[in-house]
Amino acid sequence: MTLTTMDPASADTTAALDYDAIVIGAGMSGMYQLIRLRELGLRTRVFEAGTGVGGTWYWNRYPGARFDSESYSYGFSFDKQLLQDWEWSEHFAPQPETLRYLNLVADRYDLKRDIQFRSPVASAHYDDAGRSWVVTLADGSQHTSRYVISAIGVLSAPTMPRIAGIDSFRGQAFHTAKWPHEPVDFAGKRVAVIGTGATGVQTIQEVAKTAGHLTVFQRTPNWCTPLHNRPITPEEQVQIKANYDALFQRCRETFACFLHTADPRGTFEVTAEEREAFYEELYATPGFAIWVGNFKDTLTDRAANKEISDFVARKIRQRVKDPKVAEMLIPQNHGFGTRRVPQETHYYEVFNQPNVTLVDSKATPIECITPTGIKTSEAEFAFDIIIYATGFDALTGAFDRIDIRGKGGLPLKQKWAGGARTFVGMLVQDFPNLFMLLGPHTALGNIPRSIEHNVEWVTGLLRHMQQHRLTFADVTPAAAQGWTDHVMSCAEGLLTFEVDSWMTGVNSNVEGKQTRVIARYAGSAPAYRAWCDAVASGGYQELVLS
Ligand code: NAP
Repeated sequence: MTLTTMDPASADTTAALDYDAIVIGAGMSGMYQLIRLRELGLRTRVFEAGTGVGGTWYWNRYPGARFDSESYSYGFSFDKQLLQDWEWSEHFAPQPETLRYLNLVADRYDLKRDIQFRSPVASAHYDDAGRSWVVTLADGSQHTSRYVISAIGVLSAPTMPRIAGIDSFRGQAFHTAKWPHEPVDFAGKRVAVIGTGATGVQTIQEVAKTAGHLTVFQRTPNWCTPLHNRPITPEEQVQIKANYDALFQRCRETFACFLHTADPRGTFEVTAEEREAFYEELYATPGFAIWVGNFKDTLTDRAANKEISDFVARKIRQRVKDPKVAEMLIPQNHGFGTRRVPQETHYYEVFNQPNVTLVDSKATPIECITPTGIKTSEAEFAFDIIIYATGFDALTGAFDRIDIRGKGGLPLKQKWAGGARTFVGMLVQDFPNLFMLLGPHTALGNIPRSIEHNVEWVTGLLRHMQQHRLTFADVTPAAAQGWTDHVMSCAEGLLTFEVDSWMTGVNSNVEGKQTRVIARYAGSAPAYRAWCDAVASGGYQELVLS
């Protein structure tokens, strides 16, 4: 910690500020941060664009939306009584249940009185003289605060495809992340889904149940594996509640905070028969076991990756009756697990249904949206409903959509022009008193586990500042460089970084995001936390505090 002389005048200005802390976003991170800031006695305001709490689980109410990680590993862990009071109904809970859970948390902690809904933040500008921030909402109102904490999510800036004629469509059209609050009826309707990522897969398998006809526009197939969801039995409920301590301890120890973690064996350290048996076991295991619990070299060794890719390809061929359709569903340009693996429930069987058609929109690209449907290079389709499951401007997109300026008016966009640069994903040099929850270059994985860590680390720093009567926190250039170098080195040798996806910052629908970047920390969560903890226990030597 570089301690410069205390400036009593700046401490005195705190009272003149509207708030001690402004939190942007009332999803899981914003909610938990509010709880912790209240404990510090900080006057806090949360600005939220939506009309309710829940963030991801508020916005993504598309049909079929549900957890991909085990429900009981996903909830908040900080309130032991809440863990006993709340019961998840399924191993992978559906979105409405998660939203109910988050509203329960908001009510339990009376959070809504400090949250201002319908309040998207347009800009946040640092005021050098006042060591504070001026936050402007979309309605033009301005609010001043010592600290700004962004809790704006990793996948929260939805992107529509850049296709001509989108606004001309006369039927109903929805982006999955902006789904209406009222139910949408697909019965007897001609429905199109564009996009086959984790969201598209969940949507397709649900819509196919009732749609008159469903046409899926797939540009790049993904490697999908079975979720194996089912209700939690009363006996399991008792077990889960009795074992929460051990469960969260397990999440603290695994690479990405999931219940699953890599097998210590290499793919070729076992016989071909053992390998096949292990793959079968993983394919039959619920959740991400096959992705994050596979042989340790699955995502680093090309030959190993080919083995599991071939295995999943065989499964797709077994499950899809029409061999031509099966081949269309098998990825050709990336290996298994190098993009986020969508978790499915009878997804492949959907393509055996007479009411479902798969269109290869790489071979026959969508040319335009027409008033009545979609025109590809080969054919014209009529639709009643078009669903855009076209993803997000991930990781940095939500930051790009707010005009954030640091010292001397420096735009964050400019700071990150050559790629995101942070310190432990939570601070940016020259953006004092701005703290990011799940900013670029934090450990992600099982998101709520990462959220709790980030919130607690930021809270620890603010407590430290309070105790030492400090009002300014920035990061030293050396520390920011050190962390950025570390993030880059963690990405070396990982096949994931050789593939276009949101995880490598590529989005064909966003200007300037066609080139892969390293915007995600690829080291282990325990190593990440150890790094952060060392900063705190070392007295924040890496920061400039005054
Ligand atoms: P995504 O993985 O980025 O998928 C977007 C899809 O839209 C891709 O198939 C993409 O094709 C397609 N697409 C985009 N623009 C297009 C265009 N102009 N023409 C044709 N196709 C186009 O987004 P997502 O499915 O929303 O998932 C994002 C992430 O959210 C997931 O990876 C996951 O981390 C998270 N998520 C989590 C859960 C859960 O935990 N339960 C559920 C859903 C999502 P290309 O591949 O060719 O670009």
